Amino acid sequence: DDGEIPLYAARLNAPQREAVLTTEGPVLMLAGAGTGKTAALTARLAHLVATRRAWPSEILCVTFTNKAAREMRERVAHHLGEAVEGMPWLGTFHSIGAKMLRRHAELVGLQSNYTIIDTDDQLRLLKQLIADNDLDEKRWPARQLAGLIDRWKNKGLNPEDLDAVENEGYANGRGQQFYRLYQDRLKALNACDFGDLLLHMLNVFRRERDVLAHYQQRFKYILVDEYQDTNQVQYLWLRLLAQERKNICVVGDDDQSIYSWRGAEVANILRFEKDFPGAHVVRLEQNYRSTPHILGAASGLIDANSQRLGKSLWTEVDGGDKVRVIGVWDAPEEARRVGEEIERLEREGAPLDRIAILVRAQYQTREFEDRFIQIGLNYRIVGGFRFYERAEIRDALAYLRVIAQPQDDLAFERIYNQPKRGLGAKTLEKMHQHARRTGLPLAAATLQLADSDELPARAANTIGGLMRQFLAWREQAEKATPAELLRTVLEETGYNAMLQAEKTAEASGRLENLSELARAMEEYETLGDFLEHVSLVMDNEAGDDREKVTIMTIHAAKGLEFDNVFLPGWEEGVFPSQRALDEGGLASLEEERRLAYVAITRARRRCTILHAANRRIYGQWTSSIPSRFVGELPADHVEEETTLTGGASLWRAGMSEREDPFAHVATSRPERSGSRGPGWQRALSTGYDATPRRVRETTRSAASFAAKPRTDVTVGQRVFHDKFGYGTVTGQEGNRLEIAFEQAGTKRVIDSFVTLA
Ligand code: ATP
Ligand code: MG
Repeated sequence: DDGEIPLYAARLNAPQREAVLTTEGPVLMLAGAGTGKTAALTARLAHLVATRRAWPSEILCVTFTNKAAREMRERVAHHLGEAVEGMPWLGTFHSIGAKMLRRHAELVGLQSNYTIIDTDDQLRLLKQLIADNDLDEKRWPARQLAGLIDRWKNKGLNPEDLDAVENEGYANGRGQQFYRLYQDRLKALNACDFGDLLLHMLNVFRRERDVLAHYQQRFKYILVDEYQDTNQVQYLWLRLLAQERKNICVVGDDDQSIYSWRGAEVANILRFEKDFPGAHVVRLEQNYRSTPHILGAASGLIDANSQRLGKSLWTEVDGGDKVRVIGVWDAPEEARRVGEEIERLEREGAPLDRIAILVRAQYQTREFEDRFIQIGLNYRIVGGFRFYERAEIRDALAYLRVIAQPQDDLAFERIYNQPKRGLGAKTLEKMHQHARRTGLPLAAATLQLADSDELPARAANTIGGLMRQFLAWREQAEKATPAELLRTVLEETGYNAMLQAEKTAEASGRLENLSELARAMEEYETLGDFLEHVSLVMDNEAGDDREKVTIMTIHAAKGLEFDNVFLPGWEEGVFPSQRALDEGGLASLEEERRLAYVAITRARRRCTILHAANRRIYGQWTSSIPSRFVGELPADHVEEETTLTGGASLWRAGMSEREDPFAHVATSRPERSGSRGPGWQRALSTGYDATPRRVRETTRSAASFAAKPRTDVTVGQRVFHDKFGYGTVTGQEGNRLEIAFEQAGTKRVIDSFVTLA
């Protein structure tokens, strides 16, 4: 009877208990969202420890995030009624891999105090290698190479394992060579990257039989959550480690496989029974998380996927509202609407930290951040930077700041060599030195330098070119809208081109963020207004621990649950993403649909889906059509609320069968509120304290800028210059000197760089 059931098993249903109590042999728990897979896995861990089947240190337990590992550790302690000492092998694949590698570093040519480098370091290293080996980085971007190397590592492939097909993608078949060089370089630095944490250990397992045997013996039980998102190298790891005892329990849901773009293979879960013959398969069908309508909507949606095992879900949870689908006019209204709904929930007593806004793409967070700041609603961005803090956004803002404000040294320093212009640390040092000596803003000092022989000709040309660009942008700023200006800057600097060349998912995310920035700017008449808005938003970082609404991507929300979930942007081209539509394959569309399934099933009580009829894309209003996923939601579980025509009913009328969903998209010129011209002029002369005239002076003629010429240097004076040596002044114009050097010939230098001889 119940009195004898330990705490960790008390609440479990029959199949969950089965998964907990079947401790020996392989177990596959395959079940839909919210059915208590993670709960059962946690109970299993507690059970193994409580019944002394294994010490905590003899159990390998893999979670998808560090947060999930922490929660599991706490829950096991709670179940057992005492703190559990040492669960060293409970964590993500990466954290477990790092720990093992510390013990065996010497077997792969590292020392145990090796460093783990991040993606920035990784890129810097690859760029060096590319430069050292006479490859054109513009043509063959380091990021592309980094992406490939990650992919190979995710597949468990060392440089020598690559076949011709794998190798052909980069620099006409030189990928393998660079992969090898990169690995050698890392070794020399006593470092490894994230991919190595797993690949190195896989190599050790394969080569060193005794090490493998040690771990096969040690890990009496292996537990893996979110198994559907394991990649090849993780799969190979587990298969090797479990081979001896075969006490491996994996849990997952094929409908929630959403990381194939990172190398995850849903096939891993499908072939588990082949890999481990006689595996005990447990299916869970009772969902404890969501209301019947939420569940019905999610199940109906995922039914449209063809490549799935198929399963049914039911719930005893009562009542609840239908999934709401709200059609709004545009993105600002979407954010306004969500804000209102959240305020209403708050008034009803709903805790803010159980409310989430889950977006398809990072850039979507911006509209919500802006709105929530306006209405003073606390929010937190999880798993990513707040919009205006992302590197590409800061870069773009830095350009705009220098345009509006030539004295903004910090901004100028951020972008003078971004994208890369071949201006190194030496040049920067010179620039600072000169600015300090003359009291000029960095940009103006730099221009002066470029107009002399103080810098190598190439650097001087580059800087001259950049300054001419700034001049042109400032002129454009007087006529164009802030958003148009931004687009020009991103084009003319090559910033867009740099990202486009990378051809990675990350780079295309950055491009999307930049378009989103332009979209945000459309709402402002002047650059000054916009920049002021940004500084207010950036200042808002609340260091307090008040309850906050969570904004995060659907990817990051996997495994989590919230009482109230808002899902904005359910439009073709946003969700499913344009990328998925462009690739056009069934596989990418089905992955998007799984993502939609994950999104809806995060909700416990209420789920609200929104779609906007118009999005501003590249300065043009584009009518968007609701996501096909909206149309796939079973009508019984959905309550539509839209004053607009179209919506889900449009899809249900059969539009989803048309071949080209964009054939009907109409575009029209946006209506602008008010005229830009006078407002812009006004702002320049009052606001961001550079008047157009002053701006022009700074750039056109640096010599006339208020740098004071030295009075102790005159024509005929003998002087010394660090780089050119001794010489005699033959001409003087402001603070610029013409000097006949004894060795170097006649040069134009700046007076602050010479000393009296
Ligand atoms: P996902 O697929 O989203 O990862 P899951 O299958 O891992 O979901 P859990 O997160 O383990 O599901 O559980 C979902 C919710 O149901 C949690 O709030 C959990 O506490 C609760 N739950 C799990 N099992 C039971 C049970 N037997 N009785 C009551 N509640 C349960
Ligand atoms: Mg789970």
